[in-house]
Amino acid sequence: ELAGLPPTALAAARDAAARAGVEGYRLTLDAPSYIAVMTYADNRELRETMWRAQTRLAADEPWDNRPLIEEIIALRQEKARMLGYTHFADYVTEERMAGNADRVRRFLADLETRTRPAFEREVAELRAFAAERGCAELQPWDVAWYSEKLRRERYDVDEEALRPWFSLDGVLEGMFAIVDRVFGVRVEEVPQGSSGFPEVWHPDVRYFRVFDGDSEVGAFYADFFPRPDKRGGAWMNAFITGGPREDGGFDPHVGLLCANITPPAGDQPALLTHREVETVFHEFGHLLHHLLSRVPVHSLAGTNVPWDFVELPSQLMENWTWQKPALELFARHWQSGEPLPDDLLEPMLRARTFQAAMQMMRQLSFGTMDLWLHTEYRPGEDDVLAGCRAVQERFSITPLPDDYAMVCAFTHLFAGPVAYAAGYYSYKWAEVLDADVFSAFEQHGIFDRGFGRRYVDTILARGHSADPMELYVELLGREPDPDALLRRDGLLPTA
Ligand SMILES: [Zn+2]
Repeated sequence: ELAGLPPTALAAARDAAARAGVEGYRLTLDAPSYIAVMTYADNRELRETMWRAQTRLAADEPWDNRPLIEEIIALRQEKARMLGYTHFADYVTEERMAGNADRVRRFLADLETRTRPAFEREVAELRAFAAERGCAELQPWDVAWYSEKLRRERYDVDEEALRPWFSLDGVLEGMFAIVDRVFGVRVEEVPQGSSGFPEVWHPDVRYFRVFDGDSEVGAFYADFFPRPDKRGGAWMNAFITGGPREDGGFDPHVGLLCANITPPAGDQPALLTHREVETVFHEFGHLLHHLLSRVPVHSLAGTNVPWDFVELPSQLMENWTWQKPALELFARHWQSGEPLPDDLLEPMLRARTFQAAMQMMRQLSFGTMDLWLHTEYRPGEDDVLAGCRAVQERFSITPLPDDYAMVCAFTHLFAGPVAYAAGYYSYKWAEVLDADVFSAFEQHGIFDRGFGRRYVDTILARGHSADPMELYVELLGREPDPDALLRRDGLLPTA
């Protein structure tokens, strides 16, 4: 019944059963378990059961979120109107880079229109692939399963096989070499046990000093590996915000890079997947935003910028991990020192755009639904499930069942007073920014110091001391253009 599931997923399901005090395997709707089933389980009925359960999460008595959603949105609307806004989306976006809800609507609609042709091609291809294998009618619970088969057949990427080329120390060395070349920023590790090494909270923690040119601007701690009592995921903390003082001096910044990447095993160093390499670059981008700030007002310094702007410095850094000349700087086998062979690298680079239109449409569907809920939807009058379903079906690979209720478990929008409400578009917005800025780097040369310094001086050093759109226009001489993202995703012909 569980055929197809990889050993790690089976082991997790057995552990889950043991923890629950039952025999056999226990599958849940938690992401790791659910995603493994949808992607790998050969049993179509099992996939259908899981998929249907997932789409009815928090939609049935006694745990029906519908009345709560109506009430939350009604209260948000009331608040926005009391403050003089047409709707909640205008209220939220006024302080964001987008500026107003209409701009967000046009942004999403433009990407939708321009992605649709590639989306239709990808859907037709997946349907044909499934049909050849006896699946007459592709259902929602078939999409991930056939996609995985198609991806394997087409690209044959083995993410695990790349690990020996991505030792953590090699990755750090390469990343520091890149920021030295591009930004003129130097990073120096303070070895554990040496006199300058500070007190730390765990023996894994490392400490680095950061120099902008000749001047020391700050330092950061790095805590890379998981521990039972440590929060999951990866993030950056601004421990101390420094900056220029009134007396002309400069207070150093202090930050923390935290992650949960693969730890060393036995006498083997920490060997990362490419995704983990991206994570390290991403969080280091947030750190640079913090550490290179020259804003005297601390509340406007570093990463204290609007939500749809804060991921530009982090996501921008990820781009270098996809560039062959950059990978050549650091992707070396941890034992032999050999560079990453082309037959491993090329499939990874090609697979980057696999089903990019489908992924784009999925994000656009969430963003568009979020915007609909916080602009047009009338609580108490409109049927919230039907309205959301209608929006989502426009972006869906397969038809959706009538009782589709995904919005009831869409915690992004409802888990806080604002949370991602009227802000889900920010994911795509930030991608447009990072692809756009990186395409400017490509024009100047991805290691070009001149443009790198301009980026430091207009974006990284300036925090929220000016409107983000102004800073952006100062950097590129124009407003953001989505072409670069569409090109990077393979959705536009590369000129
Ligand atoms: Zn981030």
